[in-house]
Amino acid sequence: MTDASLYQSLRGHLATLRLAAAAEALPGVLEAATAEGLGHTAMLERLLGIEVAATEARRHASLERFASLPASWRLSDFDFDAQPAVDRSLINELGTLRFLEDATNVLFIGPPGVGKTMLAVSLARAAVEGGYRAYYTTAADLAARCHRAAIEGRWAATMRFFAGPKLLVIDEVGYLPMPAEGAAALFQVISQRYLRGSVILTTNLGIASWGRIFDDPTVAAAMLDRLLHRSVVFNIDGDSYRMRAHQARATQLRKGVMAPSSR
Ligand code: ADP
Ligand code: MG
Repeated sequence: MTDASLYQSLRGHLATLRLAAAAEALPGVLEAATAEGLGHTAMLERLLGIEVAATEARRHASLERFASLPASWRLSDFDFDAQPAVDRSLINELGTLRFLEDATNVLFIGPPGVGKTMLAVSLARAAVEGGYRAYYTTAADLAARCHRAAIEGRWAATMRFFAGPKLLVIDEVGYLPMPAEGAAALFQVISQRYLRGSVILTTNLGIASWGRIFDDPTVAAAMLDRLLHRSVVFNIDGDSYRMRAHQARATQLRKGVMAPSSR
């Protein structure tokens, strides 16, 4: 075979194997091999390295899309000094993602604005960056989705969907009253993940008031059993970060108004 037909054949192999990035990089890598005097091993390593990098980037982008995180928060963005109720070292330990390996659950309990969603989303982002499948939903969306699934005969598939990710974030449990059917869906999702996959749950309701989410207090108790059996619980009772920002702005304004005019 001539060099030209060998080259065409090699491109054909790469296309058949769906190694698109390697196929595209082939001319450049061959040129570099000549220019830099690369041996066969070094050249193949470079070519396949390009394909591996492209595969990893695709996988990461797909995990990222799947996770549906509502914001791009990271743990490093969280201001621990502003929220002393949050144990920094415990959050950093969770940031190592070891908790995912034994399906430990994490509960963030506290009033609005204290950073519950931010912490849950930041941990989910860390999980995605660590190559895990994570998925974010609010409790209301989960209930609505299960409701539709029941009507459309897709209940089992939807339950499998919520069982799948290594980490499931369920945000805002208790913000809206849940219809009994929604509470039942939540119960089933949590039951089937029990000891298999981590749940990070945020709620404004103290554990003692969980009975209120459900018509049936025994369901609430059973769900809490499963959630808390292997879990880390944060009770965040500090000031609202949002309010803090408003207060700081108000203070600034007031200072501005009351400062003696320099003009
Ligand atoms: P919650 O879910 O508890 O209602 P959020 O996580 O939505 O509160 O936080 C409200 C807003 O305040 C968000 O914009 C969040 O980024 C910010 N925030 C809250 N706590 C902190 C913190 N400790 N450091 C930095 N930003 C914070
Ligand atoms: Mg929130």
